[in-house]
Amino acid sequence: MNREQDEMNRRGIGMTSQRTRERLIQRLYEEGLSNAQVLEVIRRTPRHMFVDEAFSHRAYEDTSLPIGHNQTISQPYMVARMSELLLEAGPLDKVLEIGTGSGYQTAVLAQLVERVFSVERIQGLQDRAKERLVELNLRNVVFRWGDGWEGWSALAPYNGIIVTAAASEVPQALLDQLALGGRLVIPVGTGDVQQLMLIIRDEQGYSRHILDAVRFVPLLNGPLA
Ligand code: SAH
Repeated sequence: MNREQDEMNRRGIGMTSQRTRERLIQRLYEEGLSNAQVLEVIRRTPRHMFVDEAFSHRAYEDTSLPIGHNQTISQPYMVARMSELLLEAGPLDKVLEIGTGSGYQTAVLAQLVERVFSVERIQGLQDRAKERLVELNLRNVVFRWGDGWEGWSALAPYNGIIVTAAASEVPQALLDQLALGGRLVIPVGTGDVQQLMLIIRDEQGYSRHILDAVRFVPLLNGPLA
């Protein structure tokens, strides 16, 4: 038995959790997610570490859950879907993530790409996310407390940019910071339901593809204490 399973058993969510984890992967597969690498990473990433203890028994349900500060951990389906969209055209070395939240999507990405740069406006969430990634020994992530509308220009350009909160419009800074051939995945809209968009940059400019109807918390303005 490995250390992670040991720890899970100690916390009383051992074998049940193993089974529910497998069920989650099966369900994502049946819903049309087919990137084996993404599904494998989701299978082995302990989502219960990213939610409050009170919700850990629901960590492997395909649902978003509260993480404090009025924010939510993304639904596994969305994490898988957005990761697939980013990786569709091949492996990525530099990915910018806006909206670290619990750090769950960050942890998934860290296992799929070379380096992740993650921006969050709520410092308390960022601190917890950092601790979780250290616990999981995922060291290829750099965090920044700041406003995602501005991206992270000092380290641009990025081959992939993922935004995990809904923007009223596509932030110009993120378009500017996308590398040629790069892919931006972002929910856009102001209502309860938004549109997931994939934007690809090439020599001619940007091509925009409108994909699924989705529900995200809004991308707000400015960093918070
Ligand atoms: N992927 C995260 C989802 C968190 S919810 C997870 O799975 O846990 C969206 C996150 O975006 C929240 O943490 C929120 O604080 C953050 N956010 C909202 N507006 C932001 C902004 N302008 N800049 C950076 N982060 C922002």
